[in-house]
Amino acid sequence: MSERTQHEVDQFMNGLVKRNPGEPEFHQAVREVTESLMPIILDNPEYQKTQILERMTEPDRIIIFRVTWEDDEGCFRANRAWRVQFNNSIGPYKGGLRFHPDVNQSVLKFLGFEQTFKNSLTGLPMGGGKGGSNFNPKGKSDHEVMRFCQSMMTELHRFIGEDTDIPAGDIGVGAREISYLFGQYKRLKNRFTGILTGKGLAFGGSCGRREATGYGCVYFCESMFQHRGESIEGKRCLVSGSGNVAIYSIEKALEMGAKVLTFSDSSGFVFDPDGIDEEKLAFIKDLKEVRRGRVNEYAEKFGRAEFHAGQNPWSVPAEVALPCATQNEISEEDAQSLIKNGVQSVCEGANMPTALEGVHAFLKAKVLFGPAKAANAGGVAVSGLEQSQNALRISWDHEEVDRRLKSIMREIHSKCVEHGREGDDQFVNYVKGANIGGFLKVAEAMLAYGAV
Ligand code: NDP
Repeated sequence: MSERTQHEVDQFMNGLVKRNPGEPEFHQAVREVTESLMPIILDNPEYQKTQILERMTEPDRIIIFRVTWEDDEGCFRANRAWRVQFNNSIGPYKGGLRFHPDVNQSVLKFLGFEQTFKNSLTGLPMGGGKGGSNFNPKGKSDHEVMRFCQSMMTELHRFIGEDTDIPAGDIGVGAREISYLFGQYKRLKNRFTGILTGKGLAFGGSCGRREATGYGCVYFCESMFQHRGESIEGKRCLVSGSGNVAIYSIEKALEMGAKVLTFSDSSGFVFDPDGIDEEKLAFIKDLKEVRRGRVNEYAEKFGRAEFHAGQNPWSVPAEVALPCATQNEISEEDAQSLIKNGVQSVCEGANMPTALEGVHAFLKAKVLFGPAKAANAGGVAVSGLEQSQNALRISWDHEEVDRRLKSIMREIHSKCVEHGREGDDQFVNYVKGANIGGFLKVAEAMLAYGAV
């Protein structure tokens, strides 16, 4: 980066930090994007005159509300919930709901900001939004989760709509939560409409939505390898997390011939030197999706597998890393350890799992680095397909959805290559490619609207 560009990035970030104090995750997400975009902003007087970056980093609005619910002992409980409607320049707000005790405004602003670029990259008409609550579903009964979801929707329903804002799932919000939320919406409005995505197949959900983020992430990883004339087949692969994204990343990686050695949850990680196979994956699905247990049970069941409490998998030697748990789970030190052990590709299933210093280290080492905006866009893309099916009152089968998902992931890869080529050796900086590729369409729409 030139000295002038660095100076402009620092100056812009000083202003952003001042306007948004105490929001480190949001600052981190904006800095990463700003580093990619500043050269084209400086080259384009129209972008400067219209303050495109200042406007794009300011959410359209943030809705904050209290959610009161009753636990199984009859005590009242109160949580805080948010919906960040970040940018609807190219379509209605679209993005998940997260239920986790660490949720706060900074986390949801970073997610909503990223979502705007990601949704643009899919080529579908979707704006960016995100929401959630500091409610912790862990350890709660199904009835408690139901009462929380119903209370949350009683407030949220005023602000969403199939042409306004269409939430989906994220951490802590899976099929069970989406069903409770949708049931309450339908009851309040007396309307059966595609107001949420990730719905059950019996009531308007799309085939392939559950698998979409994980499958899409592995498709993207394969596209990066293929661009270099290689493949994920036969490569050792580290996965973190054991939720929706992790499970279906493992499934697709196995199908494509990779050897998956690890997975994790917030208690630690499991290393299986023999690799996960179909039978072991079925055990993980039952453990995490049905019984909601902890990953150490896997190590107790399968002989040579080891459980490492309180640690992450990034010290295990492998060619591929798929971080699929949460933000900032790969520190700079973890990145250095992966590089030292010969990692060839890091493809982000989770949102912003790599600290900015880690991203810089991967790019410097010319690792094939697939940033979340591009690599995990398969989930929201199939959510977009779910909206289309709901609007048309039709449903496509698995093959049709998977065909469309593959094609969207290939298109995203091409956009990243188009905008991310660097230097003479044809190295693709996918971070830059995704940021510029996502930005251009949103910027074009914003310029067309004038002072909005
Ligand atoms: P799930 O709730 O299904 O799973 C989350 C997984 O991450 C669990 O294994 C969980 O462990 C682990 N985890 C969560 N928080 C932490 C933490 N602070 N430290 C360590 N481990 C943690 O969520 P998803 O799989 O849906 O989401 C995972 C990531 O993918 C998120 O970043 C999300 O934003 C992103 N994403 C999800 C999409 C989707 O379609 N679901 C779409 C695009 C991105 P434990 O069980 O112990 O909590």
